[in-house]
Amino acid sequence: MRVYVLDTTLRDGEQTPGVSLSPEEKLQIAKALDDLGVDYIEAGSAATSPGEAEGIKRIANEGLRAKILSFSRVMEKDVDLCRRCDVDGLFLVAPTSEGHIRAKLQTTPSEFLERISGVVEYAKSSGLCVDLCCEDGSRTDIDYMKRILDRVGDQIDRFTIADTVGAGSPELMAGYFQQLSRYKKLPYGVHCHDDLGLAVANTIASVKAGANTVNVTINGLGERAGNAPLEEVVSALDILYGYNTSIKTERLYKVSKLVEELTGVAVQANKALVGKNAFTHESGIHVDGLLKNTSTYEFVKPEYVGRKRVFMFGKHVGGKGLKAVMDGLGIQVNEDQFKRIFREIKSMGDRGKTITDADLLAIIDQVRGEKRKKFIEIVELRSESGNKIKPHATVVMRVGGKRTRESAEGDGPVDAAINAIMKAVGRKNIRLEEYHVDAITGGTDAGVSVQVKMRAGDKVITASGINTDIVMASVQAIVNGINYLVGG
Ligand code: MN
Repeated sequence: MRVYVLDTTLRDGEQTPGVSLSPEEKLQIAKALDDLGVDYIEAGSAATSPGEAEGIKRIANEGLRAKILSFSRVMEKDVDLCRRCDVDGLFLVAPTSEGHIRAKLQTTPSEFLERISGVVEYAKSSGLCVDLCCEDGSRTDIDYMKRILDRVGDQIDRFTIADTVGAGSPELMAGYFQQLSRYKKLPYGVHCHDDLGLAVANTIASVKAGANTVNVTINGLGERAGNAPLEEVVSALDILYGYNTSIKTERLYKVSKLVEELTGVAVQANKALVGKNAFTHESGIHVDGLLKNTSTYEFVKPEYVGRKRVFMFGKHVGGKGLKAVMDGLGIQVNEDQFKRIFREIKSMGDRGKTITDADLLAIIDQVRGEKRKKFIEIVELRSESGNKIKPHATVVMRVGGKRTRESAEGDGPVDAAINAIMKAVGRKNIRLEEYHVDAITGGTDAGVSVQVKMRAGDKVITASGINTDIVMASVQAIVNGINYLVGG
């Protein structure tokens, strides 16, 4: 059976505390969602601000395959604002619980029903499709929903129940859809929040009970604890329950990273499917099993969401895992050297250090008694930023034995320093793919750990730098990475 996906990253997701997207960023995300295959994009709320309306209008006129909706209150002026944005339809949100109607709207359910009916009629006569959503639906008397359906059920295009405050259980949500889908044949949607961590379970229970459209957000962004995450709902519906959606799951990771970058809300490391650790294996026993058969410790294949399996080193590393990685890097050592490398990794892990590729290669060099020739070395570095200057940096370096000096500007002192180094290195094929900073707790004098992932052609390497100065920690990580990328 087909389930339709309504993505609300750009509306409910943008209501995440601290998140605000520009019209350009919204368009970029909308295009990515369209490529991903979502059926509906709730692009924002036209009544929020002129900038928001402009963003929605641009998305609506982009010629995307997905249908574009705007959030609307039960007000004719909101409908007008939405229509001016050229959207296909409304996500018309009507508070339906006694509490919301009396406290928030200060009216009665009967009077409000009149208003809903009037606005639905107005929107339909404007040529808009209407997805009528019961706000606080999970605390709404089902008889009131039936009265709404009696009144406007033949006019609306979909009837959605929102578990706005995350108060629903799978049984409660399923109960609504079982009863309503028997009461009136109509497309039903479900919109769940994660206040008790049940958004995915509630969404799936609703689908099994008769809902055919799921409201979701990328990375589970949304108010408070967030909405049901698209990646989890779609993958579980597909893998465990055999429902079809039009989502191209192998694009999920890319879209997750884009949304993480543009919203600035970091995905937690242990987040299902898209978290940093979701396909990372460190434990020796697990790695040994995986090498024999990947299904032993991987239920979902990393490729399913467009990712690759990662073996990590730390104190849990096993001999077979280390051997596999070294084979992958084309490194051969004798038995005694292998034992020493293994011991050194365990001991670094015991000291709580994350071991990057560059660390591993340094250990191997040390054990083999080899001194790697450094391709680049920093002689002097100066980086400046302030409220009245454009951040800039000057670096004196030795590159392949030759002394060179370069200056560059950047978005900040770190960016400027890295730009200057990259200019001095002069190799256009070296790319910085990931940059990650961790403060090692404490005050503004605390240590900072920077991890980078760099690429030159097919060769990818991770490296790190630690310093109390964030510019120097970043520079160390980059220099480390370049030396191992170029050095062989
Ligand atoms: Mn919501």
